Order: sequence, then C-alpha cells, then structure tokens
Amino acid sequence: MGGEVGAVKKGPVEVRFVLAFPDVYEVGMSHLGLQILYNILNHVDWLAAERVYAPWPDMEEMLRSSGLPLATLESSTSLGSADIIGFTLQHELSYTNILNMLEMAGIPLMASGRDAEHPLILGGGPCALNPEPLADFFDAFLLGDGEEAILEIAEAYRTWKRQKLSKVELLRLLSAIEGVYVPSLFEIRYEENGRIAGIIPLKQGYEKVRRRIVSDLEHTSCPTEPVIPFLKTVHDRVSMEIARGCTAGCRFCQAGYIYRPVRERTPGKILEVIDTTLKNSGYEEISLLSLSTADYSCIAPLMKSLMAKYADEKVAVSFPSLRVGTLTQELVDEIRKVRKTGFTLAPEAGSERLRQAINKGITEEDLLLNAFSIYSAGWRVIKLYFMIGLPTETMDDVLGIAELGKKVKTQGKKAGNGGDVNVSVGSFVPKAHTPFQWEPQISYENILEKQQFLRRELKIRKLNFKWQDAPLSVLEGVFARGDRRLGAVLLKARELGCRFDGWGEHFDFRKWQDAFAAVGIDPLFYHRRREFDEILPWDHLDCGVTKDFLYGEWEKSLSGSATVDCRNGSCTGCGVCDFKEVKTRLAGEHALPDCSSSHFRSAESECRQTEAAQRVRLRFSKVGPMRFLGHLEMLNLFIRAVRRAGIPIRFSQGFHPHPKFSFATALSVGVESMAEYLDMEIASGYSAARVREGLNAVLPEGMEILESAEIPLRSESLSTIMDRVRYRVSLPSGLINSLPLLVERFLALNKFVHRREKQGKTIEIDLRNELYELHAADNVLEMVIGRGKPLEFVSAITGLTGSELNGLKIEKLEVIFKSEPVGEFSGGSRLADSGI
Ligand code: SF4
Repeated sequence: MGGEVGAVKKGPVEVRFVLAFPDVYEVGMSHLGLQILYNILNHVDWLAAERVYAPWPDMEEMLRSSGLPLATLESSTSLGSADIIGFTLQHELSYTNILNMLEMAGIPLMASGRDAEHPLILGGGPCALNPEPLADFFDAFLLGDGEEAILEIAEAYRTWKRQKLSKVELLRLLSAIEGVYVPSLFEIRYEENGRIAGIIPLKQGYEKVRRRIVSDLEHTSCPTEPVIPFLKTVHDRVSMEIARGCTAGCRFCQAGYIYRPVRERTPGKILEVIDTTLKNSGYEEISLLSLSTADYSCIAPLMKSLMAKYADEKVAVSFPSLRVGTLTQELVDEIRKVRKTGFTLAPEAGSERLRQAINKGITEEDLLLNAFSIYSAGWRVIKLYFMIGLPTETMDDVLGIAELGKKVKTQGKKAGNGGDVNVSVGSFVPKAHTPFQWEPQISYENILEKQQFLRRELKIRKLNFKWQDAPLSVLEGVFARGDRRLGAVLLKARELGCRFDGWGEHFDFRKWQDAFAAVGIDPLFYHRRREFDEILPWDHLDCGVTKDFLYGEWEKSLSGSATVDCRNGSCTGCGVCDFKEVKTRLAGEHALPDCSSSHFRSAESECRQTEAAQRVRLRFSKVGPMRFLGHLEMLNLFIRAVRRAGIPIRFSQGFHPHPKFSFATALSVGVESMAEYLDMEIASGYSAARVREGLNAVLPEGMEILESAEIPLRSESLSTIMDRVRYRVSLPSGLINSLPLLVERFLALNKFVHRREKQGKTIEIDLRNELYELHAADNVLEMVIGRGKPLEFVSAITGLTGSELNGLKIEKLEVIFKSEPVGEFSGGSRLADSGI
C-alpha cells in the first residue's frame, strides 16, 4: 500500500535511490538501518529515497501473472527505472530473494550484463564484509557505516549522470570513496585444489578496501520521524541506537569485530531523540538498541530518566540484548516497572571451560545470580540461548547446557516464582573477520546427533527445547565463508525456485542440493578448516581488525585465556582505532538532564492525571488505499494518532491498560466509507473540535475526521444504536446488462435465504427481509440494509459469484441510527444526499 505516516513521496528528482530489503515488509520495517538511510537521503532535495521489500510468494505470483514489475512503495516506480538500488545484506539466507527481486523488475542479474541505462546495484550491511558469493551480481558494496558514505555515493552518481559518462567511469568514481568495494576491480585466481591462488587488484592503489567508520555517533543523523507501519511488524516501536560497537571480545561473534570501536551517544542526546520520535510517531514502546545494551556506560541513570519521564504515559522500555554479568539489581528494578517484555540470557556455551575458550567472560555464579534477580523481580520465564558446534566442544560441554538450564530453573523455585526455562540452541557458523574464521563448521550429522542428545537430556530435566534446523545452518555456513564461484549456485537455486530460505516453510534443502550438484560445487568445501597461510576470499576487505590479532585470539582460545574488554581504557591492540578520530567514545562523563521535572511531562500526561472524563463521538472517512486497512490496523492507527496529536485519552485499569476507544462496527477490508464511527473517552476540558483538528493534522491521506461532538459519558454504545447502513456498489461496466430488471425481480421476492458459514456453523439470513431500499442506475446499485454484507446482497440480486465479484467498488455512505446519535450529528446522510 505505502502511504504510511512518515513515508516521503517526492516528485521528479535528479536521483531516485531505492532502499531494498530482501525479506518481507514486516521484517524490513523493523530494521533501523534502513530508516536511518531513508531519513538521510530524503533530507537532500535532489534525492528521493524509496522503499521496496521482497514480496511474499502469493504477491509475487499476482505480480507475475499480471505482468507487473516489482515497484517502490512511495511512487510505484518500477525498480528498473530507479537510478540506484541499495540492498541491505543482513543474512546469507536472503541472497536468493535479492536475485528474485532483480528478476521481477526485469533487471539483468549479472553486473556484467548491465550498462549505464540500468540502475546501479549496491549492497551494504554485515554480509558486505564478505560479499563474494554476490560479487557477480552487484556493482559495488559499502563496507561499514553508511551515514556519511551513502551521500558521497549519491553525489558521485549525480556527477556521473550529469556528465553522461560510461559505466566504467561510474565504478571508478565509486571506488575512490572510502569504504566502497567494487568487485569487478579485482580478479580472483584459483589453485587446482580449489583454494584461492590470488586476489589481483585491477586498479592501481586499490589493493584493499577499508571499512568505513563513523567516528562520532553523537553527531550522526538519527531518524526522529520514522515511517510508521499500519500493520504489526516484528519490532514496532521507537528504535533508539544508544551505542554502536561492542568490544567484549566474544570470539565467535562477527558483529563484535566488524562494528568496532564502541561509540556511545550521550544520554542527553538519547532522551532528546526519543522525546521527539515519540511525539512524531505515537509509539508506545522504546527499544534501546546496541550490541550489548546493558554495557552502555550510564544505562542505570538513563533507564531511571526514561521511567521518570514515560511511566505515566504507559510507554514501555525494552532491551533486545543483555549480556550476562551486566545486569545489576538496580537495572532489573528499573525494567520491572514497565511491561515485562521477556528475558533472554545468552551464556552461549554450557561449560565454564568452553565459555573461557570463546571469551564469554561470565561465570556460572554470575548467571545464576542474574537469574535469581530476574525471577525475584516477577518474570516467570527465562530464555537461555546456547550454541552447539563451537570450536573444541565435547559432549561434556553439550551436557553442560542441560545442567545449566536445570540450575537456572532451580533459581526460579528459590525465588518463589515458578521458574520456567526455555533452552534455545543454535548451531555455530564460523564467520569471516573473527578468530574462528579458520575453524571447520560442525557437520550436518553432528548437529542432528547433538540435538537428539539435548532433546533427551532437557526432557529429563523438564526444560523446554527450541532448536535451529540443521540444513539452514549448513547453507548459512557455505555462504558466510564463500567465494565468487558460489554465484553460479545462487543463480541455479533461484532458477529452481529457492527463495525466502530463512523461512522454514519455504526452505527446500533438496532444491539446494540439486543446485550444488548441477554446477558441480561441493558445499562441504566451504565448511572445511582453512589453513592459516591460505588466502581467504575476504582478505582484500579490511574491517580494521588485523589478521594477526584474530590469530592471536584464536591461539588464546585454545588455552582459554581471556582478552579484556577495551572499553574501559585497556587497549588490546586489535588495530581498529587511530586514537585521534577513530577511538572508543563513552558517554559516562556526560551529566543527565533532570527528567523528573515537569518540563519533561507532556500535556498529555498532565491531563491524564486529572479525574474528570468526557466522551467524544467522531465520524470519519476511510477511502483510497486506506480501504485496505483491517480493523486491528485501524485501531492501531488511531491509538498512535491520538498520541501524536497529544489528545488526553483515558486508559482502562489493570495490568495491560488500553486506551478507551470503541468503534461502531468492523468495516470489511476493501470497502470505502464516509460513515465510520468512533467513540473515545478523554480528559474533560478538551473540546471535540480540538480532537477533530488534532487528528486531522496527523492522520494519513485517505482518513479524515468529518464530524466530532461531545456526548454524555454514559451514552448508549454505537453498536446498540446502529440500525441500517446505506451502501453504493459500482459494478464494472459490461458485467451485467439488465441491472434494473434484476433489481425489480429481487424486490418482487418475499424471501431470499442466504446461508453463511462461520466458524463451522451455518447462519441463515433472509436478505430480502433485511433490505430496506434498493435502486439501480446504469451499473450502480444503492441499497439500505440491516444485517448482511453488501456483497451478499449483490450476489443475491445479480447472481454473480466468486471472482466475478472481485472488481466491484463498494462505498459505505451512511449509517442510520435508531435515534439520532448526537444533537448535531448528520450520520452521514447529508453527504449521501449531496451525492458524495
Ligand atoms: S584498537 Fe584498542 S581500543 Fe580500539 S577497538 Fe581495538 S582493542 Fe579497543
């Protein structure tokens, strides 16, 4: 649909930059990186940033069968007409979706098959640090932070476009930008045994590409007007990145190496951004993002400030990641004040020995203490995350997972609060740019064996078990350390129909096995141990951490020696910092603003403190693309619109307070309406006219409050006083020849019994008896009905069924109430009379 609040629609511009997310909308809209770039690009007047997501297979089928190309949400621009398409590479299992999206747009898949007339295809995100399996399809990749480089790329593109230069010139211009990797400027040679013989740079001075690092996060752009989805997405909340980078030094964790050093935003900046974003979005939840949120240097005071400021407004604060050992009692006490959003702890390995080998510097004692505090604070379930297949792992370590889970469960009993434990187990995949990049990957058979063992051991201990499917890890491992030759496998897999490989219901291991066999590549070649003197496919891509440092870390893993976190001043020499611009930046020394003062309390929360309430009745329209919003989505839209408009809505009592809204009825999806009704309870002293004005300023195009009135607090509910509804149905011309005759025939009937199946029951409705008025003119029907749906009447009158009813336009014109709903309310009839 597009058209979300916060979406930016621009007219003609010099450069149209499509941000493409190779997974569904619900996942893509939860991704902060895309929102950051969208915001930065759209602030430039000669640029338009637009979005596209991978269509789910049913949508893909519709697009293909209608001959429609994949297009952007903002302006329906076909991807083939865009200037630049930037894909975010979050996960190896999204690669086939990228090819599928390009193909659906009619864009040649191979970079060598595209010229200056085609869009420039860019990639970025964590997988760009080893993008070799995608090298044949992309023109360039951006390694590292995008905030500054994205504008430089767009600027270079504009210069090139204005000068009408060749594609070769464009690639040359891009390769001059720090952090931009142009794969066609390197040639890869192979040995007979399949290993890489050499990575040959084809441009002088372009031997290595260094990751781009934004040195100071404090002064980089943060989106305060995010695009607000209508439907429920995976993370539907204010996402505030409080810090970037983590130097805890876990040896398996790629993010811990490719996002160094730690750069924190100050609490003052964080509070300011959150405040503005909440006002602009109407969100009811804040998520503090970073690789390890509780490591943020002033997390406890920040949480206190957020609580002081937002607890009254029922705004929840959540943490996506908490490292064991960083969780203090003070922090637990703060988090428990808001909604309990679930607690996940990640010991990663079951035994103390293996945790030392991976440099996960937490002891069993720390973990159990944390678990006790969490259960004592009222949480009933803790999710523990582990991995199997870590280097040096033995079956004793695997057994340790079950034993540790049991000990955590005992803490719950000790805390007197039940104590459920969900044990979630993934399979370790060695990643590029980590100390374990040379390690072999656990085999498919070994994963199954260990999962089976755990299933038994966890069952004995009455612990819940969740695991990751082995084939997904096998495939992820191939592409995570893959080289350019895998491009042929991707092409074949897409051709065989592979897509949405990260989704269990779509992943088809058989097809992948066929794809590898067809191109003659053994996937296990990529799972093997790599020699230390071997050229790795990503050796020309420099994330800043030296290979010597990684090797040193690998050696230390054998003896279980610890490497300390450098965030507190003790540099361990990884090589990322220049200690001038690029260095650890902590926020600890910055004072926090006093957030408990009334300055920080919004008008909304002040109003809500007062006791007196009043009720306001609204009539609104829902037309154009907004007709596709479902009832729950519309409810969500109003909840946020009310917050954005600062209307002092009242909440229900209880543990999960809800805003006091009530709608007349749920409108069928696809039906346009000029007569939707909503009652809301608000603090008294806020006029109905102000509610209307306030909402109209923040509602998206296609939704408008047409009337508003104050009504007595104890008025009868809308659903009780609703009697009949007037609809207009326009049939496509030529579908029915003799509509007036059919109408006449139907009106002559005494009875027309329609049977509707609902949840296994059959409901009978006498449609003739529920029909109060019926007129026909040309191909338009207008009717006033009681019970029953307009399409049921159309079918009964015309005899049309099933897909014949698809192209109909249905408009709800008026609701007729048993008594006038409120003094001045027109009930939509004036609009109906005027022919709107
Ligand atoms: S160079 Fe030193 S201070 Fe900087 S991230 Fe690496 S270990 Fe930490």
